[in-house]
Amino acid sequence: MKGGGWKRSQISPTSSSSSCDYSFKVLVIGDSGVGKSTLLLTFIDPAQHQHQHHISPTIGVDFKMKMLTIEGKRLKLTIWDTAGQERFGTLTSSYYRGAHGIILVYDVTQRETFTNLSQIWAREVDLYSTNPDCVKILVGNKVDRDVERAVTVEEGMALAKEHDCLFYECSARTRANVQQCFKELALKILDKPGLLEQ
Ligand code: GDP
Ligand code: MG
Repeated sequence: MKGGGWKRSQISPTSSSSSCDYSFKVLVIGDSGVGKSTLLLTFIDPAQHQHQHHISPTIGVDFKMKMLTIEGKRLKLTIWDTAGQERFGTLTSSYYRGAHGIILVYDVTQRETFTNLSQIWAREVDLYSTNPDCVKILVGNKVDRDVERAVTVEEGMALAKEHDCLFYECSARTRANVQQCFKELALKILDKPGLLEQ
């Protein structure tokens, strides 16, 4: 059956030991160097990554998991980091299949990472992320380098509006807004009965 990636089995706990109410698949995409891995690690373990300024790029797909409790529900987020694959062209449809949320990241100091997102949206996201309920969030990272800013807040907001998605600016380095981004995304996914029931 079409859209099999959305079956309930994928969002429910698969064993009695995984005591969560829902399990969500979240993707982090965007150009290489925008800070995807740093954002993810800052979210997973803020204390550890407070002073870490270098993340080694790896090739492949990296998964990280984090439990969150929101509105009394225990959520397990499995977050997929593209881990270098973005350098070799488009990601495949299997990467997007069954995703409940997508975080699209650009670097506010690198204009081309912002303009490239429009292409990624057309070339991949709109093509592969076929469930209209999938929650997207646009994130402008590296706001700690505001003096080097090349993309305005208004431009970010306009792109988010164009794609009817959430928008945040944040800094994986200072941790500003990082937890909020992920929590807001999880909250919005919870608000979509279509994502929880299919
Ligand atoms: P990825 O290729 O998108 O996964 O990017 P990385 O997470 O590997 O980050 C690329 C570089 O940007 C690394 O040197 C990070 O330390 C740096 N970086 C990531 N986030 C921030 C941020 O919020 N502010 C600043 N100033 N640097 C950042
Ligand atoms: Mg990376």
